[in-house]
Amino acid sequence: MINRNTGFSNLTAGYLFPEIARRRREYAAAHPDASIISLGIGNTTEPLSKHIAEAMSRYALGLATKEGYSGYGDEQGNTALRERIASVFYKGMADASEIFISDGAKCDIARIQTLFGSHVKVAVQDPAYPVYVDGSVVSGAAGAAKADGTGYSGVVYLPCSPENDFFPVLSKIEPDTLIYFCSPNNPTGATATREQLKALVDFANKNGCIIIYDSAYNAFIRDSKLPKSIFEIEGARTCAIEVNSFSKPAGFTGVRLGWSVVPNDLKFADGSSVNKDWNRVMTTLFNGASNIAQAGGLAALDEQGLKDMKDMVDYYLENGRLIKKTLEGENFKKIGVVPYFTGNGPYVWVKFPGYKSWEIFDIILDKCHVVTTPGSGFGPAGESFIRFSSFGHREDIEEACKRLAALVLESRA
Ligand SMILES: *Cc1c(COP(=O)(O)O)cnc(C)c1O
Repeated sequence: MINRNTGFSNLTAGYLFPEIARRRREYAAAHPDASIISLGIGNTTEPLSKHIAEAMSRYALGLATKEGYSGYGDEQGNTALRERIASVFYKGMADASEIFISDGAKCDIARIQTLFGSHVKVAVQDPAYPVYVDGSVVSGAAGAAKADGTGYSGVVYLPCSPENDFFPVLSKIEPDTLIYFCSPNNPTGATATREQLKALVDFANKNGCIIIYDSAYNAFIRDSKLPKSIFEIEGARTCAIEVNSFSKPAGFTGVRLGWSVVPNDLKFADGSSVNKDWNRVMTTLFNGASNIAQAGGLAALDEQGLKDMKDMVDYYLENGRLIKKTLEGENFKKIGVVPYFTGNGPYVWVKFPGYKSWEIFDIILDKCHVVTTPGSGFGPAGESFIRFSSFGHREDIEEACKRLAALVLESRA
């Protein structure tokens, strides 16, 4: 018989979100009358912009005509869309040949690991989006789980907490490490300043590291002083890959469309081009993003589409403000709860002193019928935190806030 990929046997817990879904299902089965509201998984809820949907619909109908039909396109993506992304987001910082269209940022993050193989050293912000670590475990780079349950032996965890303004101590990172960095951050919402990113880029260049910069939430940045791309930082073109996605700002979580930027100046230790190998990955292991989705992407980046995306993001940001306000209420303040919400990302990251994450998750599910995400699922430093997602219909957010405002917890601080 064939041996199991040891990467899979090394994976400790199930993926976070299936476990949340399991607990929700179990609770719903036992309490059929509970009307459960999810502020858990970061899934978008608001309908697509009509303008963008119509563009996809027109394209799809065109496919049923002789003139409008197309089969495989370029594996790197539709040239017009690559050029549009370059001009909207990367003017003077990256050109179309460095932009690769994909079926989403998560898929790119998984594929990027094939560039570096199973021996690369890995560092992640702690807490972090689970795919960086879990993908590295499957690829073999993360090694085995540590006996004390605090992560994997081959991963350097960089704690990001209120104490360090959610920006990690970089000196913990060894030379030649692949550094995953997400800003605005999922789950903390922290958004790195120009100075912080400059420090990160300088560190990477000096120490032969490559940064995988996940900017899936950059459309949520409302503070004009904060950088929206790592390539706004001088020196980033020799040390960074950026991934981004239409999922959150355009509601494309189901449509599927994202992109990566791999600069021509980025090199491996032997001097060869990372961009060339990435082109190879995209042409051999991927066969191009859906042409219908790409038609939607083009519409999302014209004047009307950009306005519609901004309105959608504003809606979610207002939800975030409502959640934050609720968690600043007297019932929470009294027991030392602190909500962190930057207004530049869709998540409210909340510390419940004295409580374990899964414990508070279960209490909120039981008492408020609200599903959240336990912070410990994002890494050891997430323990005792809960992530509230602002993706939801306004009426659901308001109802969830009403229930949370009535929650009385014992003080453990
Ligand atoms: C949602 C999310 C993504 C999105 O990935 P897609 O595959 O494009 O839907 C990427 N990174 C982070 C941190 C996310 O939260």
